[in-house]
Amino acid sequence: MNYSSLLRPEIQGFSPYTPGLSIDEIRAKYNLQRVIKLASNENPLGVSPLVRQELVRHAGGVFRYPRSSSPELRTALAAHLGVPEEWIVAGNGSDEIIDLLIRVAAVPGRDHILIFEPSFSMYRLLAKLSGVEIRTIPLGAEFHFPWNRLLQAATEQTALVFVTTPDNPTGFAPPVQELERVAQELPSRALLVVDEAYMDFAAPMDQYSLMSRLHDFPNVVVLRTFSKLYGLAGLRLGYGVMPPWLADALIRVKPPFSVNILAEIAGLAALRDGYFVQASLECVHAGRAWLTRELSRLGCRVFPSQANFLLFKPDHAVLSSLDIFQNLLQRGVIIRPLKSYGMEDYLRVTIGTEEDNEVFVQELEALLHG
Ligand SMILES: *Cc1c(COP(=O)(O)O)cnc(C)c1O
Repeated sequence: MNYSSLLRPEIQGFSPYTPGLSIDEIRAKYNLQRVIKLASNENPLGVSPLVRQELVRHAGGVFRYPRSSSPELRTALAAHLGVPEEWIVAGNGSDEIIDLLIRVAAVPGRDHILIFEPSFSMYRLLAKLSGVEIRTIPLGAEFHFPWNRLLQAATEQTALVFVTTPDNPTGFAPPVQELERVAQELPSRALLVVDEAYMDFAAPMDQYSLMSRLHDFPNVVVLRTFSKLYGLAGLRLGYGVMPPWLADALIRVKPPFSVNILAEIAGLAALRDGYFVQASLECVHAGRAWLTRELSRLGCRVFPSQANFLLFKPDHAVLSSLDIFQNLLQRGVIIRPLKSYGMEDYLRVTIGTEEDNEVFVQELEALLHG
């Protein structure tokens, strides 16, 4: 019996999301004492002490189901963002919101989604899982967004357009006016989904984010996450801000308890800990400037980034980028190769603590010039 024939055709050759490697895995494999991970754009300072304290305080409550649809978190986010709470949907990571948007808005066999190539792989994976066609537009020079080509590709069957800004894995963020123009010029039924997972790190944010302008755009969804700046990647908490008719649809179909009880507690505490957020931002901004200088000094081509990571291209006569990644692993430094994005010549490094950044530069320098 060929069991795989029992699966839906789109699932038979499905390859999973490629995550960053874990510290434990590398420590065991190479028998290392010290391993640092700069691969998944996590918060360099870890988790807020206030969040930790709240998690401990509420640990005894986990035998209860959470309230459906995270009402307290939605209220807190509404106040934090200055938007009505009816516009907000919380999810099990923003991944869940991406999945719900595709399933609610795109008809398999009829509609398609539009994405840039390369882009964050979850859009493609989740559309594929839903049996929805994916159309891609190659990024332009310097990985900038070729808006006119995107607009030309959009039709009445374009259900959703996914754009990441600041972009992953490049760090590029276009001026917000460009997004406004695209939102206006897309066919009227196409939803523009702007994934702002890294927007917290952009400065000044208002120059790049559509969040404060959503009132003017009935076809725009903004996604945010607690996984990056707020240091909650392991708890899975993200959200979308969207027109209320769409938020209502997502909430009606979504699994009622997908945001777990501790994730909501942690999210509420994370929003209250302004001190931790400020410290995290200072760490990332200072580290980003320092690493940009150091990577340039080592002869790498570094791309300007508004995010908490840097895209760079090493320039070495013998070692390929993949070799460099592999060699760094053996030296206990995990960064991100970009083969899964089709960008084999490039590497991505997350901004870490001052100490982690220094170790990374030291090991890279030894490798390239040692
Ligand atoms: C990290 C990331 C997210 C966040 O995903 P979660 O499911 O909220 O952890 C979303 N979009 C992009 C482009 C990301 O890099």
